[in-house]
Amino acid sequence: MSLSKTKEYVIQFLTKSIGIPNELEHIYEDIPEDIIKQISTSLTGNDIETETFDHNSAPEVDEFIIWAKEIYEEICKDNNIPAIWKSKWPNGKKFAVALTHDSDSIEVTEEHLQEVKERFSEEDLKESLNNKKNLYWNVERIKEVEDKFNFKSSFYFLTSEYNVSKYKDTLNELNRDGWEIGLHAGFETHEDGDKMNNDIEEFKKQLEIQPIGVREHYLQFNYHKTLDFLERNNFVYDTSLGFREHPGFLLGTSLPFNPPNENWEKRDILELPLIIMDTSLWGYMKLDENEGMKLIENYIENTKEYGGLLTLLWHQEAFLMKKGNIYPKILERLSKEECFVSSGIGIARWWNSRSDVIITVMSDSEKGWKCIIKNVVKGTCIEMKNFDLSKEISINGKGRIIHKSEANGEIYYRIELEGDCELFYV
Ligand SMILES: [Zn+2]
Repeated sequence: MSLSKTKEYVIQFLTKSIGIPNELEHIYEDIPEDIIKQISTSLTGNDIETETFDHNSAPEVDEFIIWAKEIYEEICKDNNIPAIWKSKWPNGKKFAVALTHDSDSIEVTEEHLQEVKERFSEEDLKESLNNKKNLYWNVERIKEVEDKFNFKSSFYFLTSEYNVSKYKDTLNELNRDGWEIGLHAGFETHEDGDKMNNDIEEFKKQLEIQPIGVREHYLQFNYHKTLDFLERNNFVYDTSLGFREHPGFLLGTSLPFNPPNENWEKRDILELPLIIMDTSLWGYMKLDENEGMKLIENYIENTKEYGGLLTLLWHQEAFLMKKGNIYPKILERLSKEECFVSSGIGIARWWNSRSDVIITVMSDSEKGWKCIIKNVVKGTCIEMKNFDLSKEISINGKGRIIHKSEANGEIYYRIELEGDCELFYV
């Protein structure tokens, strides 16, 4: 493929991730080829070194996004105009978390339960053996603990392996209340289009809803092939691309993005890179509860630093394992952070509507600099840096400054928008 198509894709990716006016793509025309190569390689999952993985390593693509934003600010400063960009998350929240639950099983035999009994509390085990409690069906329990913090999440069901039709009403109600019921696509669906179609049909037969979010069982993925199947079936997003053996940034970024097709054209489907999976911590890394929690906390800090998205996979059937302590602890911790917590589809819808917000900067004959903002949705915030302290921002329309601070000869603003508006610089 010609390098120019790749370059075009990467520039579009950077512009969109930062959230600057689309017509400014040209400022990145001179990005060195080796950086284009590094970003494009990372985003297609071809830069993976599981063996030498270091948990302190930064998401390298996200570092390039910060670098590209600094270039933009420099150019604005040189031209004596303000720098303006869209906030990544609603209401100016610092970072985001997608809560997701794969459901590999929904019940087990008593024999199996006896084999793994040390995973559960004595009380749960006793109730389970008396047939009073199914320890592998935790949907309502998870909903209840998430509800306490006003969080929503996604459940993905492996309907090729079991039947959830007896839970149809419960799951449909959850779906209506803002939780997401998505597909956990079974073995081979990542490279067999017919198998994928069958899995979707089976899901629809059992639940009478169309899945629009998906995670592949076992995180099996064939980058272009799987994305083709998913796109053909109108999925809004996928969230399968993550490491199995440990947490981390398989794609170099934690942010949602539209992966490229084989011709380096932007796809419609979004990828939400998977960052932490519960089973990596216990099964592969053999961590104890404290070590696991500490690692999760480090990733929360790291995501905050980059304003990223922490996509967390906590298996539905594992909720009561480790005595059921850890998942509620994570939610408690998140409730103390300034972050946007949502389901996969909640995150994907936000990201798509953020992309639809149009910022246009132009020169106004009277007032010099002018910026028009359109397609504003609830929660939209924009951020600005003003490098000329003698000038002030004025807003024409539904927007208000929610934060203003001055440092190093710059004024930084955060503006919350309630509708389309115009900004001036006077
Ligand atoms: Zn699975």
